[in-house]
Amino acid sequence: VTDWQGRHVTVAGLGVSGIPAAKVLHARGAHVTVVNDGDDARAREQAAELQALGITVRLGDGATLPDGTELVVTTPGWKPDKPLFAAAREAGLEIWGDVELAWRLRGPDAAPWLAVTGTNGKTTTVQMLASILKAAGLRTAAVGNIGVSLLDVVLGEEQYDVLAVELSSYQLHWAPSLRAHSAAVLNLAPDHLDWHGSMEAYAADKGRIYEGNRVACVYNAADKATEDLVREADVEEGCRAIGFTLGTPGPSQLGVVDGILVDRAFVENRQRNAQELAEVADVNPPAPHNIANALAAAALARAFGVPAAAVRDGLRTFTPDAHRIAHVADVDGVAYVDDSKATNTHAAEASLAAYESIVWMAGGLAKGATFDELVAKSAKRLRGVVLFGRDRALIREALARHAPEVPVVDLDRTDTGAMLAAVQEARRLATAGDTVLLAPACASMDMFANYNKRGDAFAEAVRELGS
Ligand code: ADP
Repeated sequence: VTDWQGRHVTVAGLGVSGIPAAKVLHARGAHVTVVNDGDDARAREQAAELQALGITVRLGDGATLPDGTELVVTTPGWKPDKPLFAAAREAGLEIWGDVELAWRLRGPDAAPWLAVTGTNGKTTTVQMLASILKAAGLRTAAVGNIGVSLLDVVLGEEQYDVLAVELSSYQLHWAPSLRAHSAAVLNLAPDHLDWHGSMEAYAADKGRIYEGNRVACVYNAADKATEDLVREADVEEGCRAIGFTLGTPGPSQLGVVDGILVDRAFVENRQRNAQELAEVADVNPPAPHNIANALAAAALARAFGVPAAAVRDGLRTFTPDAHRIAHVADVDGVAYVDDSKATNTHAAEASLAAYESIVWMAGGLAKGATFDELVAKSAKRLRGVVLFGRDRALIREALARHAPEVPVVDLDRTDTGAMLAAVQEARRLATAGDTVLLAPACASMDMFANYNKRGDAFAEAVRELGS
């Protein structure tokens, strides 16, 4: 679509993606109708702003497709099984998410995308990638699901050579024509299954990121499901499958040899069969899962032609975001670590694997997950467990099955003092040398606005202990 004049577009959902989408399409001459389920004070305020521009807004009815709709642009979070989408499909209409809209509206000389998805490690990996690309002197930014709107970036003034793009499974679901330069799926574990409907549907949406790749499809050699997705993808001729591994790399892989990150996929000197990139100690923090993230970022950067020295420099200057295995304080010889970002079992498993003797703080919204595998794998490291939040009984039952001897405190509180109480219980269970680890394996929204607030509350409670 290049001519939007007079086209009837329905935007599904107000909010951070719906409002800018409606404005942009309206500015290009489309007849925009926004439909929204909610009809609260905030929605009315947002609606008034759009109506003042001449955009039609229908509050309290997100289910009915407006007459004459030619295209639906949806907020990525809307579930695919909504009646609005059934009606749109019935009418043979395309449904675009925020990423698809940005992809379609980008200019002819737009920067190529290096795209990253996966159940865990996306944000860390795109930030590492952007850091590496910058070290190579390229104009770039970490954008997408990371909290920087792709629409703003592709329509903005700033010029880029290449973008480091984080994509969620929701965004990929609604991005049928996206074609990345190269892309990586970091790992695949059950998450958001209530949204996608099944593990197969979730994997298929993640796999969309490889469709039409031009240079490299980067997969995790330790996670066969990611390799399967590469095999199933329809890519450009000459596009290569590139693996990353924490072990010795095979041909067309990046891996680790004697504490050195090594590239056997993109070797500059034909006399040699491997290129040294950086030391493991250059990765911050050098935990196994994070080295995997660094290898994935390096693979994408190398696919774009970045030299080895820039990989090393970019990794050295990278600092991780808050609430991702952040050391908060030591109190009485016990380390307190905030991994509030571990919002699913796969992430929690990675952080539990990084410590030996742990008092584990967990609970919240399970999002349809089960905890048996996580608990069984981590049982021998657990000195004690403090549970909180709505779905904590699911974890308690898994503990009873796989770690019956580990003491468990079940905290039935959701008030503002609950986190301090939980940290106090953890302190009681811990002895010098232990790590108290907040790795909830659950979403936070039953007790907190988001995982940041949960991590902040933890850090504050730890400081209170120490004072
Ligand atoms: P995402 O953007 O995919 O949510 P983040 O980089 O923000 O990923 O990390 C989310 C959580 O997952 C963190 O708690 C971190 O400890 C964990 N994590 C990061 N990378 C990996 C990985 N490669 N495998 C498993 N867990 C990981």
